[in-house]
Amino acid sequence: MTTTEPPGEPFTLTTDIPPIVAGLRSAFASGRTKPIAWRRAQLRALRRLLTEERPTLEKALHADLGKSPVEAHTTEIGFVVNEIDHTLRHLASWLRPQRVSVPVALAPARARKVREPLGTVLIVSPWNYPVNLSLTPLVGAIAAGNAALVKPSELSPATSAALADLVPRYLDSEAIAVVEGGIPESTALLEERFEHIFYTGNGAVARIVLAAAVKHLTPVTLELGGKSPAVVEPGVDLAVTARRLAWGKFTNAGQTCVAPDYVLAIGDTAEPLQRELAAAITEMFGDDPARSADYGRIVNQRHFDRLSALLESGTVIAGGGRDRDQLYIAPTVMGDVAPDAPVMAEEIFGPILPVVRVPDLDAAISFVNERDKPLALYGFTASETTKRRLTTETSSGALAFGLPIAHLAVPDLPFGGVGDSGMGAYHSTASIDTFSHTKPVLDKSLFLDTMKVAYAPITDVKEKL
Ligand code: NAD
Repeated sequence: MTTTEPPGEPFTLTTDIPPIVAGLRSAFASGRTKPIAWRRAQLRALRRLLTEERPTLEKALHADLGKSPVEAHTTEIGFVVNEIDHTLRHLASWLRPQRVSVPVALAPARARKVREPLGTVLIVSPWNYPVNLSLTPLVGAIAAGNAALVKPSELSPATSAALADLVPRYLDSEAIAVVEGGIPESTALLEERFEHIFYTGNGAVARIVLAAAVKHLTPVTLELGGKSPAVVEPGVDLAVTARRLAWGKFTNAGQTCVAPDYVLAIGDTAEPLQRELAAAITEMFGDDPARSADYGRIVNQRHFDRLSALLESGTVIAGGGRDRDQLYIAPTVMGDVAPDAPVMAEEIFGPILPVVRVPDLDAAISFVNERDKPLALYGFTASETTKRRLTTETSSGALAFGLPIAHLAVPDLPFGGVGDSGMGAYHSTASIDTFSHTKPVLDKSLFLDTMKVAYAPITDVKEKL
């Protein structure tokens, strides 16, 4: 199935969208996506795409976001390969029907839970990890036996074009399609019937997706963002803490949904932590990060201008340099930031790390709880009591101690938000849960009619026995 127009027309025509979706739906109806052999073959083909076309994808990611090949591999291409390998290794056991016990009153009978694919699913992905966030959900959709349509972000056009070109060349194009486009194409897609919509992006568009899903009563997964705090307690090794925060924050120039958005520095940790953060930045990206091959760029001028305005609004402790032509913003630390400063109003989604002082853990917990539930919360502490308190007294999509963003790389941890940071989850078995229906099956023999006691009239039970 061809989903893209001839050269010169970058986006899929909106008039082509209904027939593309109809084609996918009839492929699903034909049953071709259900056999485990098809699922395995598609996953292997996707793995081949990622390994054979790695240079093409790296080039696209560099064009879109200035990603280095190493970062492109670890956070995107290799990440999806790992997800595929893990899925291929465990798929048979994940799909095996699960026996459950039957109450005595219904015996003899058997009961089991069976996974069935949902149908044709829509995956809408954002620009910041355009390979990972288009293909990791696709791994789950395929593994669960669905037909799937992927709509990458128009804001990462090189990667979108690469996926539109490569996916039909490697995968079963009857059942898996890529549609390119922005708002008009997404809107046209949302008019169509799907059995699941998997959306990754911002909360404003999530509301549009959710409203559109009402029409066909379509279940949705919303993978959103928000301000993910990092709480730093006195007594921790601040040099290690700073290096890990800098790594989590400045990977992909801060354009990571689970990047530590801001630091809550407890007690007297703020100043020494700020110094260590400045040192960590120099250690990682040199005196002039603009020249570091390991440091990315801001996606476009709109986001550059938004981030520039934030830089103007507080005290810059380290970094602060920028170049609009190059879409470069230096890894930046802002110190002594007030809780109501502009940089604390919305998700930063760029390389600016504000440090906010709080007197104690109680204040840090209140600070977190007074705001939207974050996608991730990070704790840097030596105290098990603090870990317990952060676990039980706050709510977030995920919680990690000692290391930001890496929980994504633990395949069997579900990944998703809560409250304003999203609904639903994926990765590994969580993807199977998302992209399939768990169908309860009860099987009672007709041979012995043990149900007589339940039939009306129910007053003379004894006579029936
Ligand atoms: P984006 O602008 O690329 O939008 C995401 C997708 O929504 C795109 O495919 C886009 O075409 C589509 N879209 C835009 N407007 C639409 C409309 N009116 N109707 C239908 N579809 C529309 O990306 P973004 O939203 O700027 O992404 C950044 C946000 O995503 C941040 O908040 C970030 O935290 C979040 N995010 C979350 C995760 C996660 O896994 N939870 C991952 C990455 C990013």
